[in-house]
Amino acid sequence: MLTQQAIDAFAGLTGAAPEGVWAGPGRINLIGEHTDYNDGYVLPFALPQAACVAASRRTDGRWRLRSVDLDETVELGADDLVPGTPGWHSYLAGVVWALRQAGHRVDGADLVLTSDVPLGAGLSSSAAIECATLTALVDLNDLQIAPIDRAKLARVAENAYVGAPTGLLDQAASTLCKADHALFLDCRTLETEQVPLAVTDAGLEILVVDTRTRHSHVDGEYAARRASCENACQLLGVPALRDVTDLDSALARLPELEARRVRHVVTENQRVLDSMTALAAGDYPELGRLMTASHASMRDDYEITETSVDLAVETALDSGALGARMTGGGFGGCVLALVRADRVDGIVTAVREAFASAGLGEPVTFLARPSAGARRLV
Ligand code: ADP
Ligand code: MG
Repeated sequence: MLTQQAIDAFAGLTGAAPEGVWAGPGRINLIGEHTDYNDGYVLPFALPQAACVAASRRTDGRWRLRSVDLDETVELGADDLVPGTPGWHSYLAGVVWALRQAGHRVDGADLVLTSDVPLGAGLSSSAAIECATLTALVDLNDLQIAPIDRAKLARVAENAYVGAPTGLLDQAASTLCKADHALFLDCRTLETEQVPLAVTDAGLEILVVDTRTRHSHVDGEYAARRASCENACQLLGVPALRDVTDLDSALARLPELEARRVRHVVTENQRVLDSMTALAAGDYPELGRLMTASHASMRDDYEITETSVDLAVETALDSGALGARMTGGGFGGCVLALVRADRVDGIVTAVREAFASAGLGEPVTFLARPSAGARRLV
């Protein structure tokens, strides 16, 4: 449906059919929170929700960019590709710029975008549009770029052109994920591994509860957590918290606050590795336990949860989820719950009722089946 919408909108803009249609999915992190900037491990998977880009080459060296969702079109020439330009189109223009900066020849193009990844919900609508665009431009220009390098280029677009200082997680997930798998990413070495996550084969679903709470102080809190981690590294004399091997002796050498932050990061890294072992063995109850332990660690040691996500996690667990945790940077956003398929409806009802009783706004829920990364659709 999204594909057809992109094709129709492309015809509306140009009067012709596109040369092709490409998709880039949103992503969600199964486990491994605030580990990326500590050179640690993350385990995201791609969502069924994706950005769709219908595109054709142009011969005049210009780029026409349209968002169907925002009903806006902009046209740019090579001189208009200026890092720091504000606006939604900078995510697409940034991809053109990053490719050219890296020495790739990129012809002008018409690109028409539509996406069902919700904006700003922590599901990476930004990486979805970047990675769909990048995949389209790679194919249209016949470029040979390895998948991990595509993810890096999409990150350059977001970091250097849009100006958002994010890690590689979002773009790596949107580019490299495979259906029924999570993607292990070592944020130091950028080594990746596909980890089976065929939840439906096990009679399970991953239920996402978007609490729709977003707090304005998130940026400041994020900076404070990073500063605590850097401070702890200095005190411990290690390059990154990834390098803490003896947790107990490290904790004994740190002030109380730093100790709790470090305990979260170090145990969370271990939980990512343990989740890989659990998934390799098909041990979903163990995965559930690790998810719930991750939430407790974010709540008590890293102190990045808040009322609505805690309530969603507790209610899901009380209603029979195998495990549940907040996902994303924190202070609101989404919760993931691992649930038996026959319990989904009951858990959704229980969470809705709990939110209503607590006077919170209605949450949005959906099932997140691990899906394929960026690809050509048509
Ligand atoms: P997230 O990636 O968590 O959804 P970001 O703030 O990183 O949030 O990215 C959201 C931004 O990406 C939007 O403000 C908009 O500029 C751009 N964006 C995402 N999806 C679309 C879309 N369908 N059309 C136009 N711009 C989009
Ligand atoms: Mg984003």
